Amino acid sequence: MFLGVSAQKSRSFRKGLTVEDSRYQKLHKRFLIIMLVVTVLILVFLVIQYYLLIAVDARYVGITREYYMKVYVLIPCGIFIAAFIVVWQMLDSPNISAQWKDFATILYVWVLCTVGCFVGAESPALYGSFAVPISLSTMYGRRWMCRATEGLCMFTVVQYVGTSQLFPTCGDNIIVDVCTAAFLLVMCCICNEILMGYVMDNNGLILSHVSDNTRLEMRLQRDPMTGLYNHTAFYEYLDTFVRNRGEAPLTLAVVDIDDFKKVNDTYGHNMGDEVILNLSRVLQKWCGEDNYVCRYGGEEFSVIFPNVKVKDAAEMMNHALGEFRETEYEWLDGRITFSCGIFQMSSYTMTAEEFFKVADKMLYNAKHNGKNQCVSG
Ligand code: GH3
Ligand code: MG
Ligand code: MG
Repeated sequence: MFLGVSAQKSRSFRKGLTVEDSRYQKLHKRFLIIMLVVTVLILVFLVIQYYLLIAVDARYVGITREYYMKVYVLIPCGIFIAAFIVVWQMLDSPNISAQWKDFATILYVWVLCTVGCFVGAESPALYGSFAVPISLSTMYGRRWMCRATEGLCMFTVVQYVGTSQLFPTCGDNIIVDVCTAAFLLVMCCICNEILMGYVMDNNGLILSHVSDNTRLEMRLQRDPMTGLYNHTAFYEYLDTFVRNRGEAPLTLAVVDIDDFKKVNDTYGHNMGDEVILNLSRVLQKWCGEDNYVCRYGGEEFSVIFPNVKVKDAAEMMNHALGEFRETEYEWLDGRITFSCGIFQMSSYTMTAEEFFKVADKMLYNAKHNGKNQCVSG
C-alpha cells in the first residue's frame, strides 16, 4: 500500500488532489466540446432546413432568407458561443466549487434546449429535449441539482406552452406533440427521483467505506502514543520522496534522546514516556506543517523536509533542541537533551536507505562530539 497518497498535510501530496481535480475538469470540458459539436450540427441542420423546407412548408411563408438566417441561425449561434465561453471560464476558475461547475454544464445544456425550442417553436416535440439536462442532473448525484434542473426545465416548458397560445388555434398534431413532450418530461422526472434514491444510498455507502479506510490508514501510519508517523510510514514516505525527487532539496533529520536509558532507570518508564511526548510536541512545533515528523523507534525520531535546504532544517532543529533542553520536568532536577544528524540529499543516485545511513552517521558524529547538538552535512 502506498501510504503517501492518503496524506493530507504535505504540499507535495496535495498535488494528488489537484490531479484528481484536473481529471474531473477535463471530463467536464470533453462533455462541453461534445455539446458544442452537437450545437454546430444543429446550426448546420437549420441552414440546410432553410433550403429544403422553406419552399415547401407553409409555416415558412413570408419569411425572408435574411430574417430566417438572423433569427434561426445567427442569434442562436451568438447565444451558444456566449454560453460556451461563460461555462468554459467557470470550469477554469479555481474559486468555483465542483458542484457549481457541474451545474454550469447542466445550465449550458438547458440554454441549448431553451434556444432550440424557441427556434423550433412550431415543433413542440422539441420540449422533450429538456429530458437531457434533467437526466444529466441525476448523473452528478446531488438532490438539489436534480430538483433545480427539473424546476427550471418544467418552468421553461410551461412558459413556452403558455406564451405560444398553441391551443386555441393549433391542430391535433400539435396537441399530441405537446402532450407527448410533457409526458416524456414527467416520466423523466419520476425516473430521476427513483435513480436519485439509489444514487444517494450508494453515495452514503461509499462515504462510510471511505471514512473506514481513512481511519484504518491513519491507524496503520500513526504511532499510537504520540500520533506521529510510525516506522512503516516513515520509510514509505522517505522512499517516495527519494524516488520522486526533482530539483528541489530534500533533507532528513535523525534525532535520538541523550542518555535516555538513565532517565528510564532512575525515574521510571512513565517519566520516560513524558519526555518522549514532550519531544514529539516540540518537533511538531518547530518543524512546520509541510514536513514529516516521525517516531521511527522508541526514543528515535526523524523529520523529512521536502523542499527545505539543510541550513533551514538545521535552524528548525536547533530551535527544537533549545526548547527541549530548557523544558523543566517536576520530577527532574537537571535537563534532558537530544542529538541530531541532518543531511541534505546530494546525489540523484542515492537510495532512501543510503540517504538514511548518511543522516544516521551525522547523528553518530553528534553523539561522539559530546551529545546535545545538531550536526549537519
Ligand atoms: P544515547 O545517548 O547513546 O542515545 O544513550 P541512550 O541511553 O539514550 O541509549 P539508547 O538510545 O540506546 O536508549 C534507548 C532506550 O530507550 C532504551 C529503552 O528502554 C528506551 N525506550 C524505548 N522506547 C521507549 C518508550 O516508548 N518509552 C520509554 N519510557 N522508554 C523507551
Ligand atoms: Mg536510541
Ligand atoms: Mg538515546
